[in-house]
Amino acid sequence: MKIYSYLLFFLLLINNLFSQDVLKNNQEANKLFELASNNFFNLNNKESIKQAEKILTFALENNDNNLAAKTYNLLGLNFEQFTDHKKAITLYKKGIFCATKVKNDTVLGWLYNNIGGVYSYNYIDLNVGTSYFKKAYQHTKNIDNNGDFLVAGLNIGGNLIDLKQYEEGKKYLDEIKDKVLNSKEIDIVVAMFASYATYYDVYKNDFSLAEKAFLDAIYYGKKDKTPAIKMNLLDIYKSFAAFYEKHNKLALSVKYLNLYIDLNAEIYNEEQKNILNGKDKNFRLDLVNSRIEKVEQENKDYIKKLNYNKYFIIFLTVLVFTFLTLMYFLYKNFIKNKKINRKLKRANIELHKAKQKTEEIAKLKTQFMSTVSHELRTPLYGVIGMTEIIENEHAELKDSKYLNSLKFSAKYLLSLINDVLSLSKIESEKIELNYESIDFRKEIETIVSSMEVIANQYHNKVKVDVSEHVPTFIKTDKTRLSQIIINLLSNALKFTKDGTVSIFIFVNESKKTLKFEIKDTGIGIPQKYIDKIFDKFIQVERNSDEQFQGTGLGLAIVKRFIDIFNGEIHINSEINVGTTITFSIPLILGETIETAPIHSSKDISNNISILVVEDNKVNQIVTQKLLEKNNLKCKIAVDGYQALEILKSETFDIILMDIHMPGINGFETTEKIHELGIKTPIIALTASDKYEIEGDISKYKMNDLLVKPFEFIDLQNLIIKYINKT
Ligand code: ATP
Ligand code: MG
Repeated sequence: MKIYSYLLFFLLLINNLFSQDVLKNNQEANKLFELASNNFFNLNNKESIKQAEKILTFALENNDNNLAAKTYNLLGLNFEQFTDHKKAITLYKKGIFCATKVKNDTVLGWLYNNIGGVYSYNYIDLNVGTSYFKKAYQHTKNIDNNGDFLVAGLNIGGNLIDLKQYEEGKKYLDEIKDKVLNSKEIDIVVAMFASYATYYDVYKNDFSLAEKAFLDAIYYGKKDKTPAIKMNLLDIYKSFAAFYEKHNKLALSVKYLNLYIDLNAEIYNEEQKNILNGKDKNFRLDLVNSRIEKVEQENKDYIKKLNYNKYFIIFLTVLVFTFLTLMYFLYKNFIKNKKINRKLKRANIELHKAKQKTEEIAKLKTQFMSTVSHELRTPLYGVIGMTEIIENEHAELKDSKYLNSLKFSAKYLLSLINDVLSLSKIESEKIELNYESIDFRKEIETIVSSMEVIANQYHNKVKVDVSEHVPTFIKTDKTRLSQIIINLLSNALKFTKDGTVSIFIFVNESKKTLKFEIKDTGIGIPQKYIDKIFDKFIQVERNSDEQFQGTGLGLAIVKRFIDIFNGEIHINSEINVGTTITFSIPLILGETIETAPIHSSKDISNNISILVVEDNKVNQIVTQKLLEKNNLKCKIAVDGYQALEILKSETFDIILMDIHMPGINGFETTEKIHELGIKTPIIALTASDKYEIEGDISKYKMNDLLVKPFEFIDLQNLIIKYINKT
């Protein structure tokens, strides 16, 4: 016995649709669904399917699973009408999939009942059908007044009875019997009685209970004229006729058989009218099928596209987020950097200020040092000069201990001042070397000859050997190189007695380095001093009573100068055997220069006259005495004005010009002398530091410079140089 539950569901479906979903879904879609449902109800399946297609498209596009599930259900019902069971099952399954997603138990109830129906009513597989009905039963049992629950129960019951599981089946019928009767739904009441009839007839073989069930079914069935009920009734008439026949009540059997034939004819005519069961040749089911599939495929593509878009949007979001994060950190960094920059700027300003201050202090220190030096050197020149005068004029005092002490102290003081000034300059200023081309051998000769006095003092022989590979002209800072050599030579001579001091100069193989070796046969330096000998104020303690002249600054200055030259220095020494000092500086080839030949003192003629411009009374005497002692004619001008006056009427071979003088200084006087057109060589004679006034010497076109106190030989060399020039 079949229950055409879809009509019932259909009615319920419309009820539910309007009670639940109108507001929830798009109005137009729901309106159309209503139409499609009506068309199905009126067996206008063709129209119903067309509309359902549209609704499905809409539902899938809008991801409306409720509407999709319902539409699949409607489509399934329609396809069942065309007896396309396979397609109907597929559609119901799709509906189940959608409804499960949104957990819509009502729609699941319809769908499970309907799919169960396909399997059961067409006798495809009653067991499978039953299992679907049971699912419908499960999903609907908690929904109040739900017809689907009763239908599911009836279907299970009916199927189980058909499967000969009579008691089990009747249990389901009994369970829902009261509810079925109360529901007043004709078809289910009919279906229930039909099932009971089968139970009592086939299983219990209880004629009267079976007959009563049949009659009840027919009683209710006749109350409704809907085609579905008619179909049910048709089955019941047939079964009832067979029932009477079985029990030999042939008249009654014929009566129901006739009723069956009449109803069948009636239904057939209606079917003809509605062109049911695939008789509509123009309606291409296969096309509908493919169209639905197309809709679904398009939807899948759309979903894919949506997903793709989704991924793209996610990607974009991540990108934007990353970008923003990056921007944030960049911004933070920027702010941080700005802060740091500000701090750095401030620190820089502070540093700059500090540097300026340090530089100022250094400058002040140097200035102070040179002023002090100048102020000390000036009287010292007097002291040393005076001592020499006394020594010369009073032969009886030559061996005086006091006079010697005075001389020693004065010279010590002088070298101390010079050394301290040099060191202070090196340490407070960045010393730049003044490179110039020199005739190297001549320069060495000059240096060595200036050492004659101290060589003789200690009875030493001096040997000079300049390798033939050393170029004639080299480029170097003449003054600093001289200072290095003089310091080393004077040490060698000072700390050697009755010995030999040799200086050997050569170049290395690559001709990139100029090497000096100063060797003496003196007292040597103890090993423990070797490492610190270049430190300031280091002097070796000697056991002997002999007093060595010096301040302990010479080697410190040498080392620093060699560093400035980018050179190297090494000491090798053995006590009482001698000391060898080697140093090297980079060799730079110089240009050829013309140098005046060096003359010996014998070259100075007796007729040379010198104008000494000097304001200090003591120094006037010292210089005058020194010159006269060396057979030079001398006239003193006490200041610049007087010098200019004298020069207007007298001519001289050389002018020795003091720089610091009251009134007009040495430079201004020189300028005025030049203005007078006087060409006499002017040599600055000053207690100032050589490096400090060098610039002004050339600026004011003075010919040369001699720092006080000086050895006569230096002056002599200058005199020879300029007299021979003029
Ligand atoms: P200054 O050179 O400042 O007038 P100084 O000669 O005593 O004084 P340095 O030239 O620095 O000072 O030398 C430091 C010390 O090294 C010297 O006092 C001396 O004891 C030792 N010394 C330097 N050269 C020699 C040498 N050739 N032989 C022996 N001792 C030396
Ligand atoms: Mg020395």
